[in-house]
Amino acid sequence: QVIADRLACYQPAIMTDGERIEVVANIGSVDEAKSAVEAGGEGVGLLRTEFQFLQRDTEPSEAEQYEACSAMMKALNGLPMIVRTLDIGGDKDVPYLPMPQEMNPFLGVRGIRLCLQREDLFRTQLRAILRASSQGPIRIMYPMIATMEELLAAKAITEEVRLEVGAGPIEIGMMIEIPSAVMMAEDFAKEVDFFSIGTNDLTQYALAVDRMHPQLAKMADGLHPSVLRLIRKTVEAADAAGIWVGACGGIAGDPMGAVILSGLGVRELSVSIPAIAAVKAKVRTVSMDEARDLAARALACTKASDVRALV
Ligand code: PEP
Ligand code: MG
Repeated sequence: QVIADRLACYQPAIMTDGERIEVVANIGSVDEAKSAVEAGGEGVGLLRTEFQFLQRDTEPSEAEQYEACSAMMKALNGLPMIVRTLDIGGDKDVPYLPMPQEMNPFLGVRGIRLCLQREDLFRTQLRAILRASSQGPIRIMYPMIATMEELLAAKAITEEVRLEVGAGPIEIGMMIEIPSAVMMAEDFAKEVDFFSIGTNDLTQYALAVDRMHPQLAKMADGLHPSVLRLIRKTVEAADAAGIWVGACGGIAGDPMGAVILSGLGVRELSVSIPAIAAVKAKVRTVSMDEARDLAARALACTKASDVRALV
């Protein structure tokens, strides 16, 4: 039995009625790609590429980024990896990328906004990713998309770079982490292959609570009904367009959050490496009907505390 428990993390997360939820990992490095596989991750749902830019004095070259991506694909041995393009700004500051002092960095030049201002950085990164994409199932994902202009600009640059390096077709997705993206999700869904909900930022922006705030951060609960309703709306828009939805924020790795997200129609949960086994184990204890029922009751709540009291 001990051995069976240890091996369970390598089995898929199949609900009691046969519905499967994909459980993949959030990673930031080659070492974590290896650990993710060892922990039972079915791939990578979020590669935070900004970690390759932190703790150094200069930006990584195309060759370095290419090597890192290749080494991760090798570690994943055929499993899929979603590479999120640079998400710097907000709380993640990089000394050699001079950024203006901002009153509200989380509302400032962050994520895709920086990449569209610093196209040189963006193109170098895209070249590295697209060159590595011949080695396995890589998907590209843009962070912090707030407007259609941003998505279309990012896609156009990606396509130019793809043709430049002679890479094959690649799946493109976007993070849903800003309420405007939820409200426009039906339109965005026609432009991408998948959505991944960043519940950390979606919660921060929905409730207007700084996710790093010393006193208020507790209020930023990803299970707040307002956030769950935004997620529901996102899934409905995705379903209408026939694309799939994943989630990669903190609540995907919370066992109760994992069940509610599954019940809301999220098909892929990208979680921290230590959470993989527990999330898979929890998903296996319920049926999709039970998950949908829990999600429906959570959607009807008016307080995060009521959602948390449901089980
Ligand atoms: C999120 O915002 O939920 C997310 C997964 O991205 P990050 O935590 O890197 O901002
Ligand atoms: Mg985010």
